[in-house]
Amino acid sequence: MDRARLLQAFQDIVGEGNVVFHPDDLLVYEYDGSVDRGIPSVVVLPGSSEEVSRVMALAYQENIPVAARGSGTGLSGGAIASQGEMQISFTRMNRILQVDVENRVAVVEPGVVNLELDTQVRKSGLRYAPDPSSQRACSLGGNIAENAGGPHCLAYGTTTNHVLGLEVVLEDGAMINLGSSIDSPVRETPGYDLRGVFVGSEGTFGVATKIMVRLLPVPQAVKTFLGAFPDIDSACTAVSSVIAQGIVPAAMEMMDAVTIQAIQKTMDAGYPNDAGAVLLIELEGLQEEVEGVGNRVEACLWDTGAIQVNVAQEEQDRVKLWLARKGAFGAFGNIAPNMYLVDGVVPRTKLTQVLAEVSEIGSQYGVTIANVFHAGDGNLHPCILFDEREAGALDRATEASAEILRLCVAAGGTLTGEHGVGLEKKEYMPLVFSTEDMAAMRQVRDAFAPENRLNPGKIFPDGEPYQPPAYRPSPGMSL
Ligand SMILES: Cc1cc2nc3c(=O)[nH]c(=O)nc-3n(C[C@H](O)[C@H](O)[C@H](O)COP(=O)(O)OP(=O)(O)OC[C@H]3O[C@@H](n4cnc5c(N)ncnc54)[C@H](O)[C@@H]3O)c2cc1C
Repeated sequence: MDRARLLQAFQDIVGEGNVVFHPDDLLVYEYDGSVDRGIPSVVVLPGSSEEVSRVMALAYQENIPVAARGSGTGLSGGAIASQGEMQISFTRMNRILQVDVENRVAVVEPGVVNLELDTQVRKSGLRYAPDPSSQRACSLGGNIAENAGGPHCLAYGTTTNHVLGLEVVLEDGAMINLGSSIDSPVRETPGYDLRGVFVGSEGTFGVATKIMVRLLPVPQAVKTFLGAFPDIDSACTAVSSVIAQGIVPAAMEMMDAVTIQAIQKTMDAGYPNDAGAVLLIELEGLQEEVEGVGNRVEACLWDTGAIQVNVAQEEQDRVKLWLARKGAFGAFGNIAPNMYLVDGVVPRTKLTQVLAEVSEIGSQYGVTIANVFHAGDGNLHPCILFDEREAGALDRATEASAEILRLCVAAGGTLTGEHGVGLEKKEYMPLVFSTEDMAAMRQVRDAFAPENRLNPGKIFPDGEPYQPPAYRPSPGMSL
């Protein structure tokens, strides 16, 4: 089918205004939250599962690869059309279809923004726990694809722990259900846990068109501490000390001096300007429990060298502390126009050592590195701040990022805690996985998407040898 007829066919399915193809308009879809770029051949914005199915079937028939796109906040290039794919954008499919308060579940379309869901269900005394720092913008579909984490995932687990069922459209347009049926709140399902396999598949298995999530009751009490430390080392010691006491806070976030200063230039969050690091610790639970554990946490902070400990007295104080933390990446605009955010994981016990080496890497490559991260999980986020307009700056940032990832792996950690592999980290996969490991992953992908039409060129290194298994009947087996 020629391009004009193909565009017309997409328009016939989703409506004339919902197919983007003018080169100027396509520029909007060129990037996500990271540094990779790629202009899609066309962007189609379906309004329902049925439209998604018909669009996918047509793309399949015409041999067109597809990249799903949520809100485009991804930090590993997952939604980027690196090979000129068409994008299916889910911004029109943004309805909360059902909130079942009694059974504590909600069914949503993939374009629903994370915070919108949480805000809606809080009216019924419930919450959606996974809260990526991008929650004001990122979509549930993108969260599923990346198995998103967030500050409160320390206590509650990442997205996969909160997804019960999925309606998914496969590469050829077929529609399947994974996990709990979207129409029933029954939580246990027999057979393989394909829901679990799908979450974190980075848009390579299929596209989620409906999502059933678990809701939790809003806790009776919340207590939020801000502990300021003279340096990163003492803040890291405080993290280990709290955990060593058997306390699992709902959240435990760390910010270094560069981050504190960037934030304070944007808003007065009450973070001490002269601190070398701050820890934001939140406890949730029953009133008495939170008070008791809170006293122990506070003692821990002082014992490990805190120079200041504040407790948010009012809800508005708490909101301000979190607004500053979740706005940290934006605040880096005060320092440099571009940011390359590295997402590595290390054992918590190695935090001090690894952060010192991250700082050395910054000096070696001549880049400023700010650290703001989920300290309780050992999930580092060194943010390399640079100006793309300076010759060689992007290359230096990219090389520094690679060096940091190698460092994390050498420290017994891994390549990504929550942002996915996507385009960004695919060449580093051999640092953690053997050829056989990756072949096993691709065989699973082939079971969902045998033609590899969804997000091709992501996750696996270019040129990695892979022979899809041919069906071989075992000897003696009669067909
Ligand atoms: C300031 C900032 C802070 C962040 N903080 C966090 C954080 O704390 N924790 C965290 O985990 N991440 C964080 N992120 C990263 C990002 O927000 C998450 O990865 C988020 O889940 C991406 O959602 P999205 O809707 O923007 O997805 P997109 O960027 O649009 O896409 C991401 C991936 O999802 C796939 N996809 C999108 N929709 C679907 C669908 N319906 N079906 C199948 N695949 C789909 C895409 O193909 C792509 O591979 C942050 C990003 C920014 C910019």
